[in-house]
Amino acid sequence: MSEEPPRQGSFEVFGEVEPECQDAIDFVEQVLRAKLDDQQMAMLRMYKIRFFKSDEDHGAHVDFEHKEIACNRDDAAMSLQESEDFLVGKGIIEPGDTTTLLRSIKDNPWSTLVSELVHEYGHVLDKNSGGAAYRRLDPSLSPTKYGSKESHEAFADAFRIWIFDGKLNDEAKKAVEDVVYRRGKIE
Ligand SMILES: [Zn+2]
Repeated sequence: MSEEPPRQGSFEVFGEVEPECQDAIDFVEQVLRAKLDDQQMAMLRMYKIRFFKSDEDHGAHVDFEHKEIACNRDDAAMSLQESEDFLVGKGIIEPGDTTTLLRSIKDNPWSTLVSELVHEYGHVLDKNSGGAAYRRLDPSLSPTKYGSKESHEAFADAFRIWIFDGKLNDEAKKAVEDVVYRRGKIE
């Protein structure tokens, strides 16, 4: 019996995807691999990406039970500028919350998926790094409006910004780096 070698390469996806979507997924894998170690990447790779179609269920979320990252296909295919404008209109985020980090690709189709996936992998890393209690960042310290509603969202948005070398307050930066570099005990 030989053991399967740990899978290298990009994240796994259910079903066929178009080339631009695959490029977005590959890009996410690359930026995460630049900042995380092999063990962390192996853990993220256990979560397979699944696209769904829905008019009611929007954005993306992690299904921890099935180890899936579920993404609304039509939302994910939008350019980041387009999805940001939409979410700003709904009062969910503020202008620049997503586009400032990814200026060079913000007008490309599927750039929303890039931003979404990094945020969702932030939840995966968070959840798998410290056991049951995984509150990491006080919502009042969230770098984004979206994250200010809840500590897990604050962490995932801080992680997304950290991955893309965006600007973070000291506490948010520390929260992310404590998890990424496994510093200290998490309460
Ligand atoms: Zn989230």
